[in-house]
Amino acid sequence: MTVANGAMATWCRMILGMGCALLLALAANGAVAQDLSGVVITPTATGSELLTFNTNSPLTVVKSFVLSNPNRVAIDISRVDSATFKLPKPNTSQLVKAVRFGQYDATTSRIVLDLTAPAKIVATRSGSPMTVEIMATGAIKAGQKEKYKPLIFIDAGHGGQDPGAIGKHNTHEKDVTLNYTKALRDALIATGKYRVGLTREDDHFIMLPERVAIARRQKADMFISLHADSNPNPEASGLSIYTLSETASDDESAALAERENKADIIPGIDLSGTDADVASILIDLTQRETMNKSSKFADLVVKNLHPKINKLEKTHRYAGFRVLKAPDIPSVLIELGFLTNEKNEHLLLTAEYRERVVESVVKGIDRFYAGE
Ligand code: ZN
Repeated sequence: MTVANGAMATWCRMILGMGCALLLALAANGAVAQDLSGVVITPTATGSELLTFNTNSPLTVVKSFVLSNPNRVAIDISRVDSATFKLPKPNTSQLVKAVRFGQYDATTSRIVLDLTAPAKIVATRSGSPMTVEIMATGAIKAGQKEKYKPLIFIDAGHGGQDPGAIGKHNTHEKDVTLNYTKALRDALIATGKYRVGLTREDDHFIMLPERVAIARRQKADMFISLHADSNPNPEASGLSIYTLSETASDDESAALAERENKADIIPGIDLSGTDADVASILIDLTQRETMNKSSKFADLVVKNLHPKINKLEKTHRYAGFRVLKAPDIPSVLIELGFLTNEKNEHLLLTAEYRERVVESVVKGIDRFYAGE
């Protein structure tokens, strides 16, 4: 307004017209068009939304009120003769669908906010800029945002034409892993604290790098691959849990990782070039941190194992399993027991053993996310 008055005063001085004093008085009263050019909507920490109306001179809020059917907020302001609103970008507002402007009467202009949900007016402030704070009434009841639920990905080892290890009584590893995967999924969902994703929930073959890729695409927070062990020694027995390492903790672990990684060597499928980035592990900082987290989680699972679960000695082991190579997702591989051990094979098929294992893993996850 200062600039406009200045320009007008110059023009007045130039023509020295008699009516200039009157024109200047009108301008000072606001009869000359103001520029109300845009509105910016920003979410606040309390869950409300703040609308900032940009204008080149102060605006006065006369009154504001809420309307329903459809849900709207009306803000009456001292008359503005022209206004062009840029609609807020859809992403910046959960609550405001559109902003409309119109002349209400000779002295009042009205701004109408079309809403997606019922809301209340928290505060209005006259001035330049003018601000209006609104909040969804549903949000008040719900309080702050719902707590984030980590996405736990469970990978049932093997599948389809790849049965994995086969027990003396013809138990296929791929069936055991799927069975335990579904039980673990159900138990995790029942806690109400986690979301669960599965790499497979039926009997089909998935290549190892693809299992990791599925979890990464869905932004998994944790990856748990389930397997059942095999060993030339039929006495070998018990559960073990593996995390990634450049070097295997012992020859047995190295041999096991080699056997499990062979799941990709299936007749008729060309594997050349599928695993180049994963095979050459670049141990950068992210991966190192992920490996530490994986290790911590594995230790928590071991610590919380049901006392009646038979553990393989040195229960937490390290090896270069391909499915553990997501650089940014803490990952473990659990060998549930030995299918090459007759007693273990029988045990793996019992609901009692399955429940104990599932309960133990859920406890480990709980402790991990409790920050232990
Ligand atoms: Zn396996």
